[in-house]
Amino acid sequence: MNDYINWIEEKLLQINLVKSMDQAEGFSRLGYTKEEKASQEQFRLISQSLGLKTYEDAAGNQWALWEVDKQAGWIATGSHVDTVYNGGGYDGSAGVVASLAAVKMLKDESFQPRKNIAIIAFACEESARFNVSTIGSKAISGLLDKEKVASYEDVNGVTLEKAFTKRGLDWQRIQDAQLEDDQLEQFIELHIEQASKLEKSGKEIGIVRSIAQPTRLHITCTGKTNHTGTTPMNERQDALVAIAPLITFIEEATIEINQEQAVALVATVSTIQNTPNSMSMIPGEVVVGIDIRSTKADLKHRLVEKVNRFVQQIEMNKPVSFTIKTLVDDEPTDLDPGIQETLTNICEKFGLSSMSLDSGAGHDVMNMSKRWPCGLIFIPCRDGISHHPLEHANMEDLLKGTKVIAEYLKKTSC
Ligand SMILES: [Zn+2]
Repeated sequence: MNDYINWIEEKLLQINLVKSMDQAEGFSRLGYTKEEKASQEQFRLISQSLGLKTYEDAAGNQWALWEVDKQAGWIATGSHVDTVYNGGGYDGSAGVVASLAAVKMLKDESFQPRKNIAIIAFACEESARFNVSTIGSKAISGLLDKEKVASYEDVNGVTLEKAFTKRGLDWQRIQDAQLEDDQLEQFIELHIEQASKLEKSGKEIGIVRSIAQPTRLHITCTGKTNHTGTTPMNERQDALVAIAPLITFIEEATIEINQEQAVALVATVSTIQNTPNSMSMIPGEVVVGIDIRSTKADLKHRLVEKVNRFVQQIEMNKPVSFTIKTLVDDEPTDLDPGIQETLTNICEKFGLSSMSLDSGAGHDVMNMSKRWPCGLIFIPCRDGISHHPLEHANMEDLLKGTKVIAEYLKKTSC
């Protein structure tokens, strides 16, 4: 098995375009950049060395195909190769390399699948560049709102459509990447956990039940801008003072809801815009952005209700008004129970300890699961750190995950 560890490590470096995974600045390989393309090119080379046929679809997703029978169905596995700014080299890449290594294992033992096997390296999974995530898998599963996202800009003012075109792809054709129901039977992804449940519990493999999806609010508090020097304290309509208690309220209310039940709810006041944000002006308008996540939609809605009531109370006591805008309210994604059971059995067969858990972060599999039965396995990552240069996963853990993927492909493709 040492040979596989070496192979996995070598290919991980190759996909990450480095000689060592220790990179002080981490990896910045954003979606639809030449860096992502360079990494995709390495994916293609490795796939071809395994005898797989490669192609790029209309959304820039990379496909590696082990086609054995034109009439038979397709089982797919994979993840993404893009990263956030100064991210880690395991988020996404680990899953892509595990998928490649799993196919290598099957080929090495001369396994003959009766169904076709595909590996997908999804394009632009991270929202780091355009504030919209999983573009490649959204395109494949028909969930991409092309008109809406075309004008989304990166920090340099480059729109998604422009970046896509510059990358050599045709924006007008992106939806051609969409697959028909019968073009795929199921999809399975391996990912680093990006949290520390596995590490803390000493389990080797996490089998994901459900993926939390965000509900996002913009809450605007409107008061009145005036001079800080000439406006007496009893005549102010200070929007910042009025909204401030809401920030601590959200934390307290979320903790309270968590104490009442087993499923986790997390909420963060993650953005704030203060207008006019000037030393000599009383804040006239403040907008806070709140990100709420749980695998149970009703818990998210319970918090939103509490926030509504709290805001009404502030309005009764202060000369300000509030508006609450819901930016997104996505339903949590439940993964296929049958696939979870199969994965649990595979772990047992290999003597690997496993646990069921939920994912707080989104992944490509959440889009794929809207169309096809899907599974997601986690391997531990050191201290739960991710989206950071210190992100790290052990090669031994990656090999264990690879064995689970290989066995799953074997079971489902015969
Ligand atoms: Zn990822």
